Amino acid sequence: MEIFHISAECYPMAKVGGLADVVGALPKYQTNAGHDVRVVVPCYDTKFRRENDFDCVHWGSVKLGNFNFPFSVLKETTNKLGYELYLIEIDELFNRPNVYGYEDDIERFLSFQIATLDWILARETVPDVINCHDHHTGVIPFLIKYAFKYESINTVKTVITIHNGLYQGWFGFDKLHYLPEFDLIHIGFLEWNNSLNSLAVAIKCAHAVTTVSPSYLNEINISANGLEDLFNSVRYKSKGILNGIDIEVWDPLKDSMITENYSIDTFEKGKQKNKEMLCEQFELDPTKPLFSFIGRLFEEKGGDLLPQASALALSENFENINVLILGSGNSVIEEQLLQLRNDYIGNYNVFIGYNEELAHLIYAGSDYILMPSRVEPCGLNQMYALRYGTVPIVRRTGGLRDTVIDFGDNGNGICHDQASVGDICYSINRAVKLYDDKINFNKIVKKGMATDHSWERVCQEYIEIYNLIIEKNEI
Ligand code: ADP
Repeated sequence: MEIFHISAECYPMAKVGGLADVVGALPKYQTNAGHDVRVVVPCYDTKFRRENDFDCVHWGSVKLGNFNFPFSVLKETTNKLGYELYLIEIDELFNRPNVYGYEDDIERFLSFQIATLDWILARETVPDVINCHDHHTGVIPFLIKYAFKYESINTVKTVITIHNGLYQGWFGFDKLHYLPEFDLIHIGFLEWNNSLNSLAVAIKCAHAVTTVSPSYLNEINISANGLEDLFNSVRYKSKGILNGIDIEVWDPLKDSMITENYSIDTFEKGKQKNKEMLCEQFELDPTKPLFSFIGRLFEEKGGDLLPQASALALSENFENINVLILGSGNSVIEEQLLQLRNDYIGNYNVFIGYNEELAHLIYAGSDYILMPSRVEPCGLNQMYALRYGTVPIVRRTGGLRDTVIDFGDNGNGICHDQASVGDICYSINRAVKLYDDKINFNKIVKKGMATDHSWERVCQEYIEIYNLIIEKNEI
């Protein structure tokens, strides 16, 4: 089967969060399963782009209203990622360091989608399935079905995978003319709550809708930033598939970004060495349990709760724990977290920014990973943590609910229900007590490390959906 994944992110080319990890891994496992898989992302000015070789396989010009943007399609030459990676190069729009956050993001991602479809249209073969990811690629299912110029590929089946339904790619009717021509009778597909909404378009027009965990699918029927009714109405073609992890990239036994490699048999010594390195770097005490957070510092991640929860946990348990935070996002939260450094020298530290190597070392060297999320469509951190023998402390929501069970229920982590400072601190207190009970603590660590969250197991679920929409037009 020929499968295209179209996405704004793909690790290692461009990563902001979990979307990149999924699009960088699932295609590899689908390729291993015998499929012909291609991944298409915009050509940002990233380290991966600068350090690797690409061949130009197609060029053209995207028409976006009155604008014309020349574009090229670049193919990564070595195929070392385990699937074919293609970059859509539109210099004026993407030759920039960041993936998102520009005023012209709508123009950028509409151009990306149109250029990708223009190239697919020009190819000799037509893909069986196009798997779109999040709102940045949400207009594709509509364009394939209804834009006149893509009529010859309008039988291609499409899937929209929702990694985060909070962001929807809204744009005004004044930009409607950016889209290639279609019969205005279909305009209703583009609109939701008086705005053009890229994610809503995809949900309406794709043959199947997947979310990145079963619990998240249930939750978005109740709370989805305005799309609840729409999600309810497409339940018949929706499925929640829990993300996997790339067990080759995330392997404590082979990970070259950590200080000491270890397995389930050697984790005590191995983790301690990594912890010592972390503690040395961040002036923490390696004899105390280390609680870490890695992620985007926003309310959806419970980032706003971290400063107060850290302060309270450190003052209640002063000298008993270390807290280390890696992340960036909301500047108020960043400032509050930085301020705390003065109050808890030797027990607390923070690194504001994005650092892939440090993230690996933190998974390896921490005892606990904190995930106090308000919204967590799947969450990968808890799965990486489990694999690295780090016990997750999570709020029961979305994918966290599907992957972490409280140790009181014979599970692999610590869970609470409310996104509150009180609940986080209560969990930290339980964690401190558990840490002192080494036999039980180690049992829980081992249980986590033995869990199989690999894509090998999960990738077949996507293939089953593709097969259903190819055979029956629906799932
Ligand atoms: P998100 O909602 O951000 O996609 P996920 O849990 O699905 O959350 O995935 C987060 C991914 O991004 C993980 O691979 C995590 O290690 C990584 N990550 C998040 N913030 C940082 C950071 N500041 N530095 C390094 N890696 C980070």
